Amino acid sequence: MNAESPARTKRKNKKKNGHKKFWQFGREEVNTAHFDIAPEGTLLVREGNYQYNVYDIIKKHGTPTEIFFPTIVENRVRDLIETFNAYIKVTGYRGRFHYHYPMKVNQNREFVLPAVAEGANLDVGSGNELFLVKRMVEQDKFNEKIRVICNGPKTERYMELIEELRGKGLIVIPIIEDMVELERMKKFKGEVGIRVDLSVKVASHWDKRFNRYGFTEEEILALGKIRNLAVLHYHISSQIERMDGFLQPLKRALALYAKMREKNPQLDTIDIGGGAGVPYDKRKRFYTGKSLINQIVKTAKKQCDRLGIRHPNIICEWGRYVVAPAQITIYKVLAEKRAYNKGGNSWYVIDGSFMNDLLDTWAIKQKWHVVPVNNMREKNLQRVWLAGSSCDSDDKYTSGGSYILLPRLADSDELYVAFCDTGAYQDALASHHCLLSSPLKLVAGNGEIKVARKRETAEEVGKQFGW
Ligand SMILES: *Cc1c(COP(=O)(O)O)cnc(C)c1O
Repeated sequence: MNAESPARTKRKNKKKNGHKKFWQFGREEVNTAHFDIAPEGTLLVREGNYQYNVYDIIKKHGTPTEIFFPTIVENRVRDLIETFNAYIKVTGYRGRFHYHYPMKVNQNREFVLPAVAEGANLDVGSGNELFLVKRMVEQDKFNEKIRVICNGPKTERYMELIEELRGKGLIVIPIIEDMVELERMKKFKGEVGIRVDLSVKVASHWDKRFNRYGFTEEEILALGKIRNLAVLHYHISSQIERMDGFLQPLKRALALYAKMREKNPQLDTIDIGGGAGVPYDKRKRFYTGKSLINQIVKTAKKQCDRLGIRHPNIICEWGRYVVAPAQITIYKVLAEKRAYNKGGNSWYVIDGSFMNDLLDTWAIKQKWHVVPVNNMREKNLQRVWLAGSSCDSDDKYTSGGSYILLPRLADSDELYVAFCDTGAYQDALASHHCLLSSPLKLVAGNGEIKVARKRETAEEVGKQFGW
């Protein structure tokens, strides 16, 4: 081994860390603590003392490919529950905390089971999602004490399934959404919840004062006594941008809760819904889960004490927060084209589609953190826009019209790119524009790579369209 002067080693390390810093790796607060760069300049993901070289994985399995890391879901669920319980203890809050994983955020078995294993209860939004819960119960996979909140419009089939599972001893809590359901629920034997459409605006993609779910505050108060009512539920929006967007609705809901308790003394739980965001844009400041939970518990306690009411149990249904950071999506860059814009951008054409695989790119102008999978130590970077493989001009990612910096194609034989935080919402929204195949889905856990969903063949895709 060659002896190196300490100064030289330090200089070298600094240079190494420079690339790590540039790609925003190793930062707990933006969920990249487990990302690193291998000596050969490829993307590494760590799981404790295991590590996965993403470049090696895709050289073996091809692209487009999604890699899911179950440990990340496990850690985030455990952390969330522990943090709520810790702040409940230190503030002297007297209600209990229940976490419910909202299945709609990612219904893949590989995502749901690790969450349940760490103590998550469930929240379903449709009869078909509840059907999956029934399957898990039948396979003896569940502790009977698991609690299931049922949101969304209740069709007859959905209602029958709710009754059936309740009959099997599961705690199933339907949330009343409208007058028809209120009537129907009079026959339901278990506890029920009701959803309020709070009159507040918060900064997020949905920034209107009202949505179309549940009852307005006035309507709920006019209902008076509601049979078996245990839960007051609200869900304001997703990817709420500021902490205030949680605290204002919470105060308002607790004030309503206090009034509802006069006619409904058995009401004992407030369900604050989802909405906790993830820092997709790693260069912007964003609240942390820990500080958010601290503020929520503090605010709930202060408001209840001010109103002179017993502290209700708290349910939270954060979905995106738990699963988004647990998956990355990888594409190969197929070709480069000039974009003919003022900034001198290039189009990098990828072997997958934003409209199909990362639909929110198109639907709500979702921003992503994009990093190269190889050539990560390259100094000369190119300003690029990314173009999907479908024939649609809208199938693109331009980072809001600016650019993404990536290595130059000319500097290596091949280039792969990874999109971070793709674990929330994208899978169930995925489609087949131009009949492109969905990405391969791999699970990386305990040091092993397993194929969860094979890459679709032309036959399989054609079959879905009657061929
Ligand atoms: C979508 C949804 C959630 C999850 O929202 P996130 O923003 O992903 O946390 C929770 N509850 C309800 C009722 C929902 O509709």
